[in-house]
Amino acid sequence: MYFYCEKCKKPYPLNTHSYMCECGGMFRLHKDPMDDVHTEITLGEVETPLLPMKSGKLEVLLKLENLQPTGSFKDRGARTLINEINHLGIKKIALDSAGNAGASMAAYAAAAGIECTVYVPDDLSSEMSNQIESYGAKIVKVANGRMNTCAAVKKNLGDAYYASHVYNPLFFEGMRPMAKEIYKQLGNKIPEYIFMPVGNGTMLIGLYLGFMELGRLPHFVAVQSSKCAPLYEAFYDKEPQPKKTTIAHAIRIETPKRLTTMVDILKQTGGDVVMVEDTDILKAKKFLASKGVYVELTSAAAMAGAEKFFAAGKPDNYKVVIPMTGSGLKR
Ligand SMILES: [Zn+2]
Repeated sequence: MYFYCEKCKKPYPLNTHSYMCECGGMFRLHKDPMDDVHTEITLGEVETPLLPMKSGKLEVLLKLENLQPTGSFKDRGARTLINEINHLGIKKIALDSAGNAGASMAAYAAAAGIECTVYVPDDLSSEMSNQIESYGAKIVKVANGRMNTCAAVKKNLGDAYYASHVYNPLFFEGMRPMAKEIYKQLGNKIPEYIFMPVGNGTMLIGLYLGFMELGRLPHFVAVQSSKCAPLYEAFYDKEPQPKKTTIAHAIRIETPKRLTTMVDILKQTGGDVVMVEDTDILKAKKFLASKGVYVELTSAAAMAGAEKFFAAGKPDNYKVVIPMTGSGLKR
């Protein structure tokens, strides 16, 4: 396995301290059929259930990723990335996160005995920072929003490996099996639609890789907040609007690094982007909780997006999967 630049194709070894190509291109992962990712380090990840849910006339299947060891889907990517980092003998990592990825990476780094520093926005919930620090990771709080954490970690990397869930393709690699899991759970069928909240696109790109392996693609519908919708703007060729803070913290990513890739994927799947309001997100969170499903606002955003998208009705035979990205206990 090795990284290569998506623009100029230059190869880089997995243990490179560059996190992107010198030409400015993002890394992708080259993997031969015999290449297996390492899996020794585990925290007891589960095959998450598909829970049927009915909201009015709309029937969907919630993929309960909130049941993963640290309470979010990011455990899938973190497990793969930490296993490879550990295998490479790297002992010190740093990363930036809106919270979930930081908790996942901190937990798996703890399991591997790797020193971990997480740069977070300074308005991170106390539940989330307690979780990250409890795993033994160091937290650095950065003012003025999520994008500044990214700049701060890059500036202060020192001898640490940048274990980014955005830049490092090994994280996306860990997301890939989730597609096969959904396929299996639906009796070897792919769903017609998958709705997901999209910030940096970890799940979108990871699931795309997974479904490509299966040879068929569901329609991917990305859900963003109307206050911060760079993917919507890029997909529909709209003038970029000033970005504001949404209550769905995990998707307030103003300038996603893999935006073009995400637009390409959505077009290839015959997908779409839906914008939702904070009030819709709150309403969806309340609704899900009233049915016994306690998830983060970002997950509720995806539910709100599906409700909006199918407001005029959905064909009965369509299977719609909505990953519940994270637990509601974290804030
Ligand atoms: Zn390049």
